[in-house]
Amino acid sequence: MTHGRVEDAWGSGECAGEEIERDHVSDSVPLRHRLAWDGMLGEHGGRHSERFHPEAWRQLSRTARDLDRLGREFHPSGEERPLEWIGDIGVKHCKPGWHRFGLAFDLSRVSWKGTYCDMNAHWRDGADRSDRLRYLAVLCLCRCHFGVVLHGRNDPDGSHANHVHLDRSRHANRLSEGHLSDQTLVHMAANEYLGADLIVGGGWGEGTERSYRTMLDRLGLADRGLEPREGGDRFRVMLRLLARTAFQGAELGDHRV
Ligand SMILES: [Zn+2]
Repeated sequence: MTHGRVEDAWGSGECAGEEIERDHVSDSVPLRHRLAWDGMLGEHGGRHSERFHPEAWRQLSRTARDLDRLGREFHPSGEERPLEWIGDIGVKHCKPGWHRFGLAFDLSRVSWKGTYCDMNAHWRDGADRSDRLRYLAVLCLCRCHFGVVLHGRNDPDGSHANHVHLDRSRHANRLSEGHLSDQTLVHMAANEYLGADLIVGGGWGEGTERSYRTMLDRLGLADRGLEPREGGDRFRVMLRLLARTAFQGAELGDHRV
C-alpha cells in the first residue's frame, strides 16, 4: 500500500502540484541525504536540496524549531544542544501517494550538537533506553505538525523500519484512539514509563485507557481538565510534555502543565 488514503487520483505516479526547492528547513538547518550505512546507523552526505510542497516545508520547519528548542532547553546535560541538521531519504518522488505532491517527508536522522537520533537504529528493542526515548521524543514533536507519522512501530506496509514518514493526509489534530499514529505513541510511552505491556498499535482497550488516564494525571492534564481527545491544542500540550520528558531522560510527571 502507499502512504495514507489512496483514491484513484492518487494512483498516478506523476509528480504534480506547486513546489519549492530547499536545502534547509526553518531559518538555516541543513538537510542532508542518507547515502550509506555504518552498521545500523545511516551515513549522510553534505547539504543537499529537495523539492517540497510549500505546506510540507512549512510544517517541517515548525517541527525543526520545536526540535531545536528541545535540544537547547531539555538536554540531560543541562547544556544547550541546538539542532544542527536533519537527515532525509526523500520528499518529492514521482510515485503514487503523497510523495508525488511533495507533501510527505522521509526522515532518517535528527542531529543536535553532540547528540542525535537515528531513525533506523533507535526504535529497536536492542537500542539503549535513552536512544529509544529520544526516538519517542522526535515522534511526539513530528506528530505536533503532521497528521500521519509512520515509524518502526507503526509500519503498515513494512517499509518504515529505517525511516519515519510524515505527511499531511490527515488534518484532524486531536488525539484519536483508532488512529495508529496516535495510538502507537500512547502505547510506547505507557510501556516505557508505566511498566505497561501493551502491544504497540494493538488497539485501544481497557489497558490502554487505564495507562492513558494515568499519563494525563502525571502530566497534570487531568487536573486541568485538558483532554487531548477533545482538541488539537490539548494533544500538542501532551505531546510536548512527553517529548521533554523523554528527551531529558526525566520521569513521567517531572514535566507538567
Ligand atoms: Zn514516505
